[in-house]
Amino acid sequence: MAKVDNIVVTGKSGAGKQPRIDVLVDRYGLEQLSTGNIFRSYLGAFKKLDSGLAPEKFWDEASGWFVDDSAISAELEPFCEKAGVPVDDAVLGLKAARFVDAGLFVPDRITNALFEAAFRAKGGRGLVLDGYPRTAAQAEFLLQLTQDMGTKLDLVLLVDNEDDLIVQRTVGRRICPKCGRVYHVEYKPPKDGKYCHDCGVEVIQRSDDTEEKIRTRLREFAEKTAPAIELLRKAGIPYVEVPGNLPVFTDEAVRESVLGKVEPILG
Ligand code: AMP
Repeated sequence: MAKVDNIVVTGKSGAGKQPRIDVLVDRYGLEQLSTGNIFRSYLGAFKKLDSGLAPEKFWDEASGWFVDDSAISAELEPFCEKAGVPVDDAVLGLKAARFVDAGLFVPDRITNALFEAAFRAKGGRGLVLDGYPRTAAQAEFLLQLTQDMGTKLDLVLLVDNEDDLIVQRTVGRRICPKCGRVYHVEYKPPKDGKYCHDCGVEVIQRSDDTEEKIRTRLREFAEKTAPAIELLRKAGIPYVEVPGNLPVFTDEAVRESVLGKVEPILG
């Protein structure tokens, strides 16, 4: 068996990617790299400032982009000093917040730069890519990056699910703010209904897990992510689909459903 470099796990936000990722991490000894978690960590840096400054303040409608970084830094700096947050992280967090909090995709130029830094830091292999690529431009960028680094994408796994079911499930989703572990109030409750099993930290509801924002994300997926998947398939990356909703949801059922499709390809 050729060694597995990277697997892309894709699907609508809230389709049920995490349990499938857990299976792949365990089976192939991979590490999860999630752009959503990367953004949430920068968002956390910005929100920790409690500055009362809205990202909109730094948005220039005429150019369709943010004002100069130096102008944003100047206003954030006093808050950063007080909170002990690096200014660059807070600036990135402010920019990401404008999109993430609205359920919109973060623009490619920010996403690709952050992804590349994280991907290179991990050596470009041994990863389950979670939530990236999500646009055709990101897919092209990733194909080029792996080629430049002499690594590869071995598989794209799509977790399929219906919109209405996703809305129902996502409003019950909770997440550990420390390690990113995902829970559900009904299907996978945190300890004592409140705490992360791994960290003991109180879980939170994501700011973008409201019905309106979930529906926006579903539209983003249909318009932007479906073409990205198509592009990877056309580039010859093997592709499989697994259902995000199983009649009986146990660890074993998830494992079988994933490996039944993946092992014939990756061994
Ligand atoms: P997720 O946890 O994967 O649902 O991501 C949460 C949010 O982060 C998304 O709704 C987007 O706002 C942003 N995000 C994560 N990954 C990407 C990406 N590859 N491209 C653009 N935005 C992203």
